[in-house]
Amino acid sequence: MTERIVIVGGGQAAVSAALRLRNGGYAGALDILSEEPVLPYQRPPLSKAYLKGELAEDRIYLRPDVLYREQNIAMRLNTQALMIDRINRKVATDKNSKLPYDKLILATGAAPRRLPDEIGGRLENVYTFRTLADADLLRDKVRAGQRLLVVGGGYIGLEMAAVAASLGLEVTLVEVQERILNRVAAPETADWFRALHKGHGVDLREGVGLRQLISDGNSAVLAALSDDSAVGVDLVVVGIGVRANDGLARAAGLTADNGIVTDEYCRTFDPDIYAIGDCAVFPYCGQPTRLESVQNACDAGEYVADHILGNADGPYVPVPWFWSDQYDISMKIAGLNRGYDALLTRPGEREGGLSVWYFANDALLAVDAMNDPKSYMMGKRWLSEGLTPDAEALVDPNTPLKAVATKCVARDLKPGQPLTGA
Ligand code: ADP
Repeated sequence: MTERIVIVGGGQAAVSAALRLRNGGYAGALDILSEEPVLPYQRPPLSKAYLKGELAEDRIYLRPDVLYREQNIAMRLNTQALMIDRINRKVATDKNSKLPYDKLILATGAAPRRLPDEIGGRLENVYTFRTLADADLLRDKVRAGQRLLVVGGGYIGLEMAAVAASLGLEVTLVEVQERILNRVAAPETADWFRALHKGHGVDLREGVGLRQLISDGNSAVLAALSDDSAVGVDLVVVGIGVRANDGLARAAGLTADNGIVTDEYCRTFDPDIYAIGDCAVFPYCGQPTRLESVQNACDAGEYVADHILGNADGPYVPVPWFWSDQYDISMKIAGLNRGYDALLTRPGEREGGLSVWYFANDALLAVDAMNDPKSYMMGKRWLSEGLTPDAEALVDPNTPLKAVATKCVARDLKPGQPLTGA
């Protein structure tokens, strides 16, 4: 019988699981262990409205303190889980306690990769961006006229560049690969974002890495780049990807490979231990998959709660979606483009709008919709129904999306098919 459930991690996945457990009628003990000193908060606005000072701190929290008390959820902040004793089913914490569990949910998230120390990773004005504490540190520093170097042209780097440019900073962004968004999006999507950023005055340099930050003793003042150029800097923000926080699971003997490996029920090979959200790798379209998204955190949290309570209907099969707000545009992605072998583009109805459609083996995999909410909505619907649109009709801007014919095509990747996406 399940009488005690412990959740490790204080993010969106943890809260989603806890609230769903209570909504589903679970009346036993429920603990959330979070190493952060503050209540769980929304992460996406940190690099957008919050950094700009347009969102007050109390609006950033997912739920007010009182709700956790009403729901009898023991929210243990500032508490790190140190070790899982799987034999006796206990979690040891840095507060000298050992919490027993019947079911354990790991929702430990991911941590940003840092610049190596030898190239200046520890200098005072070099920031990574993930937590509320990171955002608070940086919020005081972003001032018009300051020179910001953004390292990394993924979505985090681009969002930082957009906020900073909007606030009047002088922004240089370096991306070591031949183009921005190389890991996560097609060249057509990258082209669209490149034009957007250049239009806002960002000095965007692709195929250029950071060689060395040169300091005045404490802070970086100059960045030496791989093309032998150098830029003066007041601030450096590093957005070079994340690593899953899987150390706790690994130390407990669970399988981990940049993420805690689970089955299609979000369960590790220990049937009493689940892993969800950014820290977890689960089978999606036949391939081990780790997703970094709010959607996955929320959906997987709800799913494991249902699974524990015996309410889950089959395996966890999400339709992934993501979004990124930059300047005054919103981009949304439905699906996962990993392994794509064909691409189509379609102009959006709004000015400058564009959708980029990804296919593999003639099946729709994903759509990137820039300033084009209709394509996102339709793409998401087709993906959730297992449908693929007719290519000729899709690329014809005179055929309304609603009139595009569709057919049912399986989306599973072939075993061993190379992965190009996330
Ligand atoms: P994030 O979620 O942080 O945006 P991504 O992995 O999507 O993570 O993007 C990070 C980007 O940073 C990648 O495009 C990668 O090529 C780039 N990158 C990694 N190391 C460096 C570096 N030393 N200099 C410049 N760019 C880098």
